Amino acid sequence: MEDKTLGIYIHIPFCASKCGYCDFYSCAGADKMMGKYQEALLAHIKESLPQIQRYYIDSVYFGGGTPSYYGAKYLCEVVELLKSSGKLLREAEITVEMNPDSMRLGELKQLRRAGANRISMGVQSANDEILRTIGRRHTYGQAVKAYMFARQAGFENVSVDLIYGLPGQTKEDWADTLSKVIGWNPEHISCYGLKLEEGTAMYEVYHDTPAIPDDDMQADLYIYASELLERYGYRRYEISNFCHKGYESRHNLKYWKLQDYMGFGPGAHSCVENLRYSYVRDLQKYITGVLTGRPVLAEREEISGIERAYEYLMLGMRTASGISEKEYSRQLRSDFAPLLSKLELFRDKGWVENNGSRWAFTTSGFLLSNLLIGELLEVQAQQNAMGIPYLQQVLDSMDREELPMGEEESFLREVMGNA
Ligand code: SF4
Repeated sequence: MEDKTLGIYIHIPFCASKCGYCDFYSCAGADKMMGKYQEALLAHIKESLPQIQRYYIDSVYFGGGTPSYYGAKYLCEVVELLKSSGKLLREAEITVEMNPDSMRLGELKQLRRAGANRISMGVQSANDEILRTIGRRHTYGQAVKAYMFARQAGFENVSVDLIYGLPGQTKEDWADTLSKVIGWNPEHISCYGLKLEEGTAMYEVYHDTPAIPDDDMQADLYIYASELLERYGYRRYEISNFCHKGYESRHNLKYWKLQDYMGFGPGAHSCVENLRYSYVRDLQKYITGVLTGRPVLAEREEISGIERAYEYLMLGMRTASGISEKEYSRQLRSDFAPLLSKLELFRDKGWVENNGSRWAFTTSGFLLSNLLIGELLEVQAQQNAMGIPYLQQVLDSMDREELPMGEEESFLREVMGNA
């Protein structure tokens, strides 16, 4: 136990305004609660120090919300508190998410001095009109300036977030965004496809409208980005994440590799050993709960071996290193053979590749990843149910019901035949 490592996630639920596509837990116009939130956050971390001190902290991630809007002073206080645990490793990766409109040189320097060493910037697009349409507060010019500030402040590890499939976005426009950002030479670039989530402002406006690039177009944009980024030395190490060698996000890898992390703040999740839990997704309830000693836990569950294996498959296949038979057998203590036949089938279609001990998606496989991972999970579920007659009956009867096929599902059947 003593030499195990832990990632710490700190959720900062404040934003200057709400972006049109955002469904993260964040509040706009709640600035007057920042002071109380900081008090609660520090108190919560302090009371968790005995648990934290059982590990070495090798990553800290300030996410949100907009940590840069919350301000360097408060963020540095959190870093200092974590240092006081005596367990924050000198070489720990400390990331701060930032938006260009709230990145100030003085504060960046302050954070760098406190030990922050990685910035994750939400740039999204180099097109000002698109930025306005999706409700971003910054312009491309501000993003350029903010990036330079990060470098001036001494940050040698900067990640840039981009979104493709935005309203009115053309391939030329996406190419322009990518080439501009590649020209900055950040160490890490994330490219996320726009997903219109119900309840967001953009869902109301754009849901089922032709202004949003369709699936084929999204796929084209993804392939274009993957190829261009690889050509400029950005290796894809997860479906949406590309970086120069050695600059993978250590913190995010923890999520994908099922390693331990502890989250603080409303809606923050933790996964420590075999326990998973999350806190209330409500700023006021979180503050009051922590400061008055009332429970702030929203969910808590023990993770079974079966769930671990399910997550291993689901998260592992999102990464470029994929999954291995040896690791899988260790997670589930179960036979890899049924998955192997499915993976071999995928390999024949050019969707996965096998480098001897590991199986991972190719670019075309990544495009179909939701579907293909679904297929693999189905095989796994069938296998798990074999020892449980009731579940087997349910699965058999589902097969007989012949549920109507969605478009993607019929496509998969078509290209795979009846295999
Ligand atoms: S800045 Fe980030 S967290 Fe805040 S509303 Fe926009 S997308 Fe959401």
